[in-house]
Amino acid sequence: MDKYRIRPHTKVNLKDFDPNDASEFNGNKEDGKKRLAKLNAEIESLQELLYAEGKRKVLIVLQAMDTGGKDGVIRNVFDGVNPQGVRIVPFKVPSAVELAHDYLWRVHSQVPGKGEIVIFNRSHYEDVLVVRVHNLVPQDRWEKRFDHINDFERLLSDEGTIVLKFFLHISKDEQKERLQARLDDPEKHWKFSVGDLKERALWDNYMQAYEDVLSKTSTEWSPWYVVPANKKWYRDLVISSVLVNMLKKLDMKYPENKDDLSKVVIDG
Ligand code: AMP
Ligand code: MG
Repeated sequence: MDKYRIRPHTKVNLKDFDPNDASEFNGNKEDGKKRLAKLNAEIESLQELLYAEGKRKVLIVLQAMDTGGKDGVIRNVFDGVNPQGVRIVPFKVPSAVELAHDYLWRVHSQVPGKGEIVIFNRSHYEDVLVVRVHNLVPQDRWEKRFDHINDFERLLSDEGTIVLKFFLHISKDEQKERLQARLDDPEKHWKFSVGDLKERALWDNYMQAYEDVLSKTSTEWSPWYVVPANKKWYRDLVISSVLVNMLKKLDMKYPENKDDLSKVVIDG
């Protein structure tokens, strides 16, 4: 799955990435789903260990166009984890208080503490995506943010946080189908926002903004993965695999009890 990782200083052209790719399992959904079930169980026990050990901090950043599958990833990949050690943080249009501060202010306060996995559903990257595409701040301000973000993530990494970033890459056609499905199903209407159509009309601008993000902010200490996301099972599989590989490398251990438990007798 490492082939989906963007090497630092690579000039990314999203046209080179196929959102339909499912090459690891030759497109075989059945095999893919079996593998996914195994990975799910592994994530569950590794997260339990991470929580028990109470030393590591893991930050997962999810970015995508509307309908890209961020909510699905949160539901499927983290199915079964202990909610006590996992926190989901959605980033919406900033409030007045948030806007009165620098754009990383609301982000820094939400990063994981020891033993915690935090998932950002959208993130500080919106400040070089939607903000750029809609000219919410002038170019001479958002341009500087790539450096701020690299430095910010470097700080997190230097202080012991593992950062993984996933761009869920869907095609414009796939988005059309998913938006249509939301329109057709009354139980999905709540997910539909007329505003999403305005964003869709700016698709090419967003792709350009994403290409810059991926080219400038995939670092050794905080890599981006471009996840083929037209096939939901494959998307979940790629993210689960990357996550399990990373967690296994941490070589975590359940803490020893400070008392000698071999002599303990429970009476009564
Ligand atoms: P959703 O994730 O669909 O609930 O929508 C959240 C909305 O908040 C999206 O349209 C984002 O583009 C928007 N948003 C998130 N962060 C920012 C930001 N920093 N500035 C402006 N809009 C933002
Ligand atoms: Mg939305």
